[in-house]
Amino acid sequence: MNKEQQTIHEFDLNIIYDFFSNTERQGPGSPEETLKALSFIGGLTKNSKIVDIGCGTGGQTMVLGENTQCKITGVDNWPDFINKFNQNAQVKNLQDRVKGIVGNMENLPFQEEELDLIWSEGAIYNIGFERGLNEWRKFLKQGGYIAVTENTWFSEQRPTEIQDFWQKAYPEIDTVANKVAQMQKAGYLPIATYMLPETIWTDYYAWQKLRRESFLKIHEGNKAIERFVDSMQYEAELYDKYKSYYGYMFYIGKKIKI
Ligand code: SAH
Repeated sequence: MNKEQQTIHEFDLNIIYDFFSNTERQGPGSPEETLKALSFIGGLTKNSKIVDIGCGTGGQTMVLGENTQCKITGVDNWPDFINKFNQNAQVKNLQDRVKGIVGNMENLPFQEEELDLIWSEGAIYNIGFERGLNEWRKFLKQGGYIAVTENTWFSEQRPTEIQDFWQKAYPEIDTVANKVAQMQKAGYLPIATYMLPETIWTDYYAWQKLRRESFLKIHEGNKAIERFVDSMQYEAELYDKYKSYYGYMFYIGKKIKI
């Protein structure tokens, strides 16, 4: 990577962090949906270990912390998010059981068969759904669970505009049937699969709209920021137009012998 590219790359990361750091969540999701997914997980005790991968500032992790007695580790590769995460845990008085660490989901620092539950909302796409399910499986005990959200096509056919957009943004986007088959193939029994409500996106994009406006004001005349904001606005407009064709699904699986 040459010097110029690296600078731009770093600058972009800073823009994204700056944009998203002051919100409870960095992706579509809600406490209600986190709790619903948690209701499918059996057998958690105070000795159980949960890892939340791509935890961001920990909106969903704190919900897990408040509704279980487990030891929970949040992992994110963005140190500033992890700092906020640990502050949030402290504010909620969960710091003895809920800890954030800086780490890469492609190279996680856990032992084989150490974990009872792997959680990941709005983040597995960074490694890819299939690869994440396959690589993370070794960290789970037999009978342990995985719960992830993933962008999914609702229909077999889609209009070209939205097909092309997501094909470029996330080529692994696929239908529910294919995602469930991937989960089974990776060595999990699919326990539950369901659609997250449209409101998790509309709330997320409504927040984004307000943030975009103030962000542009703060950074007036900054072309890189304008491009970043435009691309997010385009994604939000596409969602509004094509939301019957795609959205987030929760996929919950139980590690079985293969
Ligand atoms: N789970 C949170 C955040 C979702 S945004 C929520 O639902 O609100 C996706 C997160 O994945 C970001 O916080 C980003 O920093 C993190 N991430 C991206 N690539 C990663 C990687 N390779 N390893 C660990 N975390 C990563």
